[in-house]
Amino acid sequence: MEFKQEVEHVQCLIIGSGPAGYTAAIYAARADMKPVVYTGIVPGGQLTQTTEVDNFPGYPKGITGPVMMEELREQAERFGTSVRFGYVTKVDFTGDVHRVEIDGTVQVTADTVIIATGATAKWLGLESEQKYNGFGVSACAVCDGFFFKNQEVAIVGAGDTAAEEATYLAKLCSKVHMLVRRDEFRASKAMVHRVMNTPNIEVHYNTEAKEILGDGQVVTGVRVLNNKDQSEKDLEVTGFFVAIGHKPNTELFTGILDMDETGYLITKPDSTATNIPGVFACGDVQDNVFRQAITAAGTGCMAALEAERYLAAKESGE
Ligand code: NDP
Repeated sequence: MEFKQEVEHVQCLIIGSGPAGYTAAIYAARADMKPVVYTGIVPGGQLTQTTEVDNFPGYPKGITGPVMMEELREQAERFGTSVRFGYVTKVDFTGDVHRVEIDGTVQVTADTVIIATGATAKWLGLESEQKYNGFGVSACAVCDGFFFKNQEVAIVGAGDTAAEEATYLAKLCSKVHMLVRRDEFRASKAMVHRVMNTPNIEVHYNTEAKEILGDGQVVTGVRVLNNKDQSEKDLEVTGFFVAIGHKPNTELFTGILDMDETGYLITKPDSTATNIPGVFACGDVQDNVFRQAITAAGTGCMAALEAERYLAAKESGE
């Protein structure tokens, strides 16, 4: 990669600002590595799009995702982390120092890079879904549920996210149709229990969304297919939420870092080290199994400790 000019050299560059990125920053800052965090487009990451976080240790009464991320940022800054809004557009990990370009203009070189770019919501891939995206279609109940107050909505998915979002929507909306493609949930028992105990959620098993219906401007319904008897029907809804999982944000590293077949970065066993020395990965971008805020924070800590050891070894000429 050609750099027009050297703007800045840092010891530790952290890409991403979810629990993994900020935890890495807290540890790196306390180790005097003067980390720089580039937040990405969604500062705070996926947790800023969720409501209550009840399973993060240390918050007996729960905490909202946005508040938790704000506090993590403050904690990272307290020890000297420089948190900057910016999106990494290019990386070059071929040299002894790693080169990273931000927003197509700013250029940084770094001794160590910690990748914590997380994952992004998946879509069904229907044409009508994209047509009405933002006009009744959403992949974030917490962000957009408010717009459907006292209205009837549908949500696709059967995992923990869908279950959580369905119960969230049920508090705001008159009725929530939950479209489950198999005859069972993937979500944990506790979450399924919560869904089943919410009177205004109707679960439609063996049901797929075939088309989002609209008047050309906004969503007016969804055509669903029963994949057991092939029957179709229309549900009258004004909101359509997609909660079918996520894909890792790794396009930037294609052909550069080792990935599995679904795009998750591969790290060495019991480590956050990637195939490139000095480049570490933590959080959801390298974890398709646990994907929890606490596990992301845990691997963020690991990444910072490993970056510190890498730097120390490099400086002592090992
Ligand atoms: P998951 O991958 O767990 O679930 C995705 C769901 O979407 C599955 O039920 C899947 O169906 C369904 N699905 C996928 N593609 C389609 C499609 N094209 N049409 C219809 N349905 C589809 O993703 P989640 O985002 O729910 O959860 C990710 C991880 O985060 C999990 O490990 C989860 O436990 C965790 N999580 C934990 C929370 C908590 O503890 N509070 C909250 C939210 C998430 P099928 O089952 O048939 O494959």
